[in-house]
Amino acid sequence: MRVLVIEDERRLAAALQRGLETEGFSVDVAHDGLEGLRLADQRPYDLIVLDIMLPGLDGYRVCARLRAAGHPAGILMLTAKDGEWDEAEALDTGADDFLSKPFSYVVLVARLRALARRVGSRRPRVLALGDLVIDSDARTCTRAGTPTRLTAREFAVLEHLALRAGAVVSKREILDQVWDLDHDGDPNVVEVHVSALRRKIDTPFGRAAVQTMRGVGYRLAADGG
Ligand code: CA
Repeated sequence: MRVLVIEDERRLAAALQRGLETEGFSVDVAHDGLEGLRLADQRPYDLIVLDIMLPGLDGYRVCARLRAAGHPAGILMLTAKDGEWDEAEALDTGADDFLSKPFSYVVLVARLRALARRVGSRRPRVLALGDLVIDSDARTCTRAGTPTRLTAREFAVLEHLALRAGAVVSKREILDQVWDLDHDGDPNVVEVHVSALRRKIDTPFGRAAVQTMRGVGYRLAADGG
């Protein structure tokens, strides 16, 4: 589950990132509204935690623009001022939920999980590429009806390639998607996971769905190979 935190109070943003990562979310942070919009454009976040008072572009405007662009993420707004006007306005601009500062961290996590479940139903949860079937809810993958045993990372790599099936996806993009923006590790970690995927979903079945585009990246055949 990918989360974008748009919050200009750096200490709060950093604490949210650490805390949410501990809960198993993959988290990126933006410190102003424009940077937040740019990141949201580039990466398919599931959830966005959005502060209202932001430099660049305030949270209401960020939310309105995301919705105008049809962004499917669940948006939880952090309303700093107390009073119902803020909250009404947050919902009017297309936010799914709001939480008043100061908030309890436990409540934030619970709200995000609830929101994730609601948002999840907006996306296709089962992708079928020929006889390769990827179920994002169950986190399972079958090939020709045979279940494969993938690690969480392998599954996430496969899921991302499947969402972009037929297109070339760079190592860097996979790294950004499956690990997070702060991951400064060797991009070759992607190679290791792609090789493992091949051994599990292709080789035993005599297929070649996972293709290497030398020097460019990888492509998952849209017909499942
Ligand atoms: Ca703020």
